[in-house]
Amino acid sequence: MKPRVVLATANPDKAIELKVALDGAGIEIELVDRPDSVPEVEETGDTLEANARLKAMALSAATGLSAVADDTGLEVDELGGSPGVFSARFAGPAATYADNVEHLLHWLGGVPDERRTARFVTVIVLANSDGSELVSRGILEGSIASEPRGTHGFGYDSVFIPRSTVLTLAELTPNDKNAISHRSLAIEDLAILMRESGWPTSKE
Ligand code: IMP
Repeated sequence: MKPRVVLATANPDKAIELKVALDGAGIEIELVDRPDSVPEVEETGDTLEANARLKAMALSAATGLSAVADDTGLEVDELGGSPGVFSARFAGPAATYADNVEHLLHWLGGVPDERRTARFVTVIVLANSDGSELVSRGILEGSIASEPRGTHGFGYDSVFIPRSTVLTLAELTPNDKNAISHRSLAIEDLAILMRESGWPTSKE
């Protein structure tokens, strides 16, 4: 029987992305959704890794299974690495994606292109049921556009231009974004770490 791993995310797109990538890497596990009886954990950590660890460890402790959780942030150099862990609530506790984008563009008003560098960082923590853990990371370098462009994606996609293109992430198709994204890189890294640490695989 395949070992079961619980997923902290309630976001179905993220769950599918993780399943597809781990399957593709030949990792033989069954990913199961977070039981409704286990409440979501408050993200009180001051780093992405701390927040991902909080979520994964709480879920593993509640279920007795290994658990996987991720946390993502946008780091803008001109703002000293902000919004970082506060990316979801940059413009306030109830901020929408549009509010956050507007807030970011306001803070970068008048800043020239060469100083608008930024990166998306995703950290994934796999908390094993025996108390050990794996930590993987994916980074997408780029810069912040002067105004929103594109209709795909979510969050800050409409103002983030990866280094490899002149388009924003919201102007790329979902497939093209997935091919280069911080989250995909973190998942690939996790698959490598899982193979190296002896998780069952179909490919030897
Ligand atoms: P989470 O940790 O994945 O929930 O991400 C925190 C916040 O970062 C989200 O609310 C978004 O504002 C932003 N974010 C995360 N991933 C992406 C992405 O792929 N594109 C744009 N924004 C993102």
